[in-house]
Amino acid sequence: MEESAPDAAAGGVLYVQKGPATLTEMTGQEVEAAVARTRLILLPVGATEAHGPHLPLGTDTMEAREICRRVALRLAAQGREVVIGPVIPFGTSSFHLGFPGTVSISSRTLIALLAEIAASLHRTGFQDFVLVHGHDGNLPSMMVAAQEIVDTLPETRAVVLNWLAPLSRVYHTIQRSTKGEGHGGEGETSRLLVTHPELVHPERGPVHHLPPEVMRKIQGPEHVKTGGGIFYATRSYRDHTPWGHIGDPGLALAETGERGYAVIVDWIASVIARDFFSG
Ligand SMILES: [Zn+2]
Repeated sequence: MEESAPDAAAGGVLYVQKGPATLTEMTGQEVEAAVARTRLILLPVGATEAHGPHLPLGTDTMEAREICRRVALRLAAQGREVVIGPVIPFGTSSFHLGFPGTVSISSRTLIALLAEIAASLHRTGFQDFVLVHGHDGNLPSMMVAAQEIVDTLPETRAVVLNWLAPLSRVYHTIQRSTKGEGHGGEGETSRLLVTHPELVHPERGPVHHLPPEVMRKIQGPEHVKTGGGIFYATRSYRDHTPWGHIGDPGLALAETGERGYAVIVDWIASVIARDFFSG
């Protein structure tokens, strides 16, 4: 008889989280010691929202954490130390509220949350705030919060990094799909496969693509979030997908996820090195 895996529902291990630690897992003394060496903190801004039947609701939170984790490791290898802040699990996900489990906070709440977290961290000594999203719907609020941080906290710098723009330019070279992969599609499912394979079930996510003229208003070269100059506000993902995702999760591979992370981390680490550690 086959040995059965430990039953997570009965209290077994759900998944393994690799270091380095975020602020959540550090002691105050460890943070104090880190602040003596660096004033820069990464703030991963996630979400709790539907990503289809094959991905957990915390997908964006897990991605934001993993991006910051890899960026911290990359910069550390270059002798540049940063601290990873607490992972924020909620964002503005109003257009996913039609799906069960989605939790959405208003833009006003997210702006206040980010500004107040930064104000607390500023008391500890942090001065450079790098806001990294796991959910592009948070970007407008993150930009407002970043401005508020520099307007209200002395000697601070704040920047918002939208890695979706550089990633979108090379998506076609790293994915297998030739169609428009979006929220919860091949790319995102692949990235979750890298870190949380126990929580990913690609076979449960049906293939669901949208016509190009609809897809371009969700993401594409013209859309602000993917590198363009137009912002199309989204009413409801229910109008676009009965499942919550767009694309073909069945094409996902951990190798594809690794390639995606490589593009994201190369870009973020190089911007931080240039803007915060040179000169
Ligand atoms: Zn997502």
